[in-house]
Amino acid sequence: MRSSAQAHIVTTLKNAIAQNRLAQAYLFVGPRGTGKTSTARIFAKALNCVHAPTTNPCGVCDMCKEIAAGNSLNVLEFDAASNTQVDKIREIIIDNVKYAPTRGNYKLYIVDEVHMLSNSSFNALLKTLEEPPPHVKFVFATTDVQKVPTTIISRCQRFDLRRIPTPEIAQHLLFIAGKEAIELTPTAAESIARGAEGGLRDAESMLDQLVAFCGDKIDEQNVLNIFGFTARQTVAELCEHLINGHTGAALGAIQKQSDAGKDLSRLMADLIEHLRNLLVAQSAPETLHEDLSAEAIAELTAQAGRIAADKLLNLIEQFADAESRMKWAANKKMHFEIAAIRAVQTLGQASLTEVLDTLTAIRGGGAMPERPVKKVEAPKTPVAAVAEKKTERPKPAPVSSPAPVAEPAAPVSVPAPAEAPASRPSLSAFVAASIGGSEKKTPAAAPKPDPKVSAEPAHKVEAKPAATVAPSANAQELWPQLVTRVRKDRPLISDWVESGQLTDVSSGVALLSFPPSADLARDTCERPNNRGFLEKLLTELTGAPVTLKTETRAGLVVEKLAREEAKPEPKVDPMEAFKNDPLIQKALAEFKAEILPA
Ligand SMILES: [Zn+2]
Repeated sequence: MRSSAQAHIVTTLKNAIAQNRLAQAYLFVGPRGTGKTSTARIFAKALNCVHAPTTNPCGVCDMCKEIAAGNSLNVLEFDAASNTQVDKIREIIIDNVKYAPTRGNYKLYIVDEVHMLSNSSFNALLKTLEEPPPHVKFVFATTDVQKVPTTIISRCQRFDLRRIPTPEIAQHLLFIAGKEAIELTPTAAESIARGAEGGLRDAESMLDQLVAFCGDKIDEQNVLNIFGFTARQTVAELCEHLINGHTGAALGAIQKQSDAGKDLSRLMADLIEHLRNLLVAQSAPETLHEDLSAEAIAELTAQAGRIAADKLLNLIEQFADAESRMKWAANKKMHFEIAAIRAVQTLGQASLTEVLDTLTAIRGGGAMPERPVKKVEAPKTPVAAVAEKKTERPKPAPVSSPAPVAEPAAPVSVPAPAEAPASRPSLSAFVAASIGGSEKKTPAAAPKPDPKVSAEPAHKVEAKPAATVAPSANAQELWPQLVTRVRKDRPLISDWVESGQLTDVSSGVALLSFPPSADLARDTCERPNNRGFLEKLLTELTGAPVTLKTETRAGLVVEKLAREEAKPEPKVDPMEAFKNDPLIQKALAEFKAEILPA
C-alpha cells in the first residue's frame, strides 16, 4: 500500500532522483508502522533498478526483486536495536563502504531504529557520514528522534512520516480482507484501524490475529472483545452523560466497562480523544475527515454544539491529569470516577465565556472591574445557639479571620438563602452581585445579616471552635488579596485554592495549608501551571520572589472569604439546598459519592 499520508516524501524523493540531487543521508522519523522501511526500500529500488535512476522502479528486475526480498548485497538493512555495539557498525558499515557496489549504482545502508546505537557507534558512524564515498547512501529510520545525536541529524535530510489516517487503514484492511475472502464488517475495520493508531503494520497483524481467533467472519464485537477496545458509541454515550450532568449514569458506564474487563486507561484515552474531536468539530470540522467516518462526524458535531470550548479545554486538561495518575495507580477505576465527577462539576459551573459575555452586557462593554472581597457584616447569630444545633460538620473559627477568637463570627461568608433575590438565581444576578460590590446596585447584592440564618439547615451552620494554629499576620493580610486576584484571573481554580488557607509568608516562602479532607484541592494547586500562576501572583503582591509550599494540616478549618453568589430561593427544598451546597458538592467529589433520590 502506498499511503497518501507519505505522499509529500515520495514527491520530494522523486524530484531529487529526477534532478539527480541526492543527499548522502536521509533520516526517516515517524511512529511504528508508518512505512519508514517500505519507503526506504522503494527509494533503494529507484536508485538501483535496471532502469535507474527512475522515479518508477519496475519491481520485476533482479535488483528490484532482491531489494524487495531483503537479500540484496548492495542494500544492507541493519537493525540498530540488536546491533548497538561499535564492532558491528565497523564490520557491517564502516569497513564496507569503500567497496563499490557489485551491481547497480549505489550501496544503500538502511539503519532501522538508529537511536538505539551506542555513543561510540554514533561517533564511528559520524566520520563516515562526513565524507562518504559517492556510491554510498544512508537511510536512517527512527521512532525516537530525540535520542539521535544532533551531529547525525544535521548531516541528514530529514523526513517526518505522518500517521496514516484511520479511514485509509480501514480501507486497506477491507481490501486485504476481500482478497483473502474474509468477511470483515466496515465498523470492525474501523475499530482495528483506530486501535492501530496510524500504524499500518500493527493493523495488519491485528487482522491476522483476529482471523486466527474468529475465523473468516469478523465483526466489530470480535475486535472489541479480543483487543479490549471500547466501541466509539460507548465513549460518545459516556460523554453524553457528562454533558447532561448525569453523574450516576456516567459512573454506571465506567463500572460496566470495568466489569467487562476493558482496559480503563484505554477508555480514558478514547474519552480524551473524543473530547479533542469535539473541540476540533467546533473549530476546524473539515480536518476531522482524515480520521473519522461521515456518520461519526455528524454525531460529534451535534454533541459539540452543546458544550463551550473553554469547558472542553478544561475537561481535556482534567482528564489528561487523571490519565497520568491512572498510569501507575492500583485502582484505576477510582481515578476515572473522580475525574468523571469533577467533569460534571466543571460543566455545571458558569463558563468563563458566559461570565465574560454577561459582564460585557451588564457593563455596556466596559472594562472588567476587580471583584472586591467583601467583608460582610456578621449576622447576629449567637454562637451558643449555633453550638447547640445538631450539626454533622461543626466548623471552628475562621482561620481567615483577622479578628481574635473572642469574636468568632466576625467575617461571615455563609450565604444565607434569605439574602437571595426574589427571582430565580441567574448568572446575571450572580455577576451583577459580584461586580456591584458595596454599591449594591442590584437586589442580589444585598447581603444583609438575617436572623433566619440560625434557622438554616444544619450543614449551613458554622459552629466555630478555634483552629489549631492561627495564620501569621502577614498571611492574613495577603490572603484576601490573593483570593480576589485568583477569583478574577483564574476563576476555574479559585474553589481549589480557597479550599486551603494561607497560613504563613516568610523568607520568600508562602505556605498554603489544606485540611486533610482537601487533598484533591492541594493536588490541583500543586499542578505545575497552577503553582506557577500562584507563585507569580504572590510575587507580584508581595513585591519579592515567593515560592509556594503546600501542606496538609490536621485540624485546619478553612473559612471561605465572602463572595456574593446567586443564592437559592428562601423557600428552597432543603434537599436541593443540601445538594447545591458547594461544600457538599466538594464532599461528594472527594468521596466519589452521589445523592440518590429519597
Ligand atoms: Zn527494477
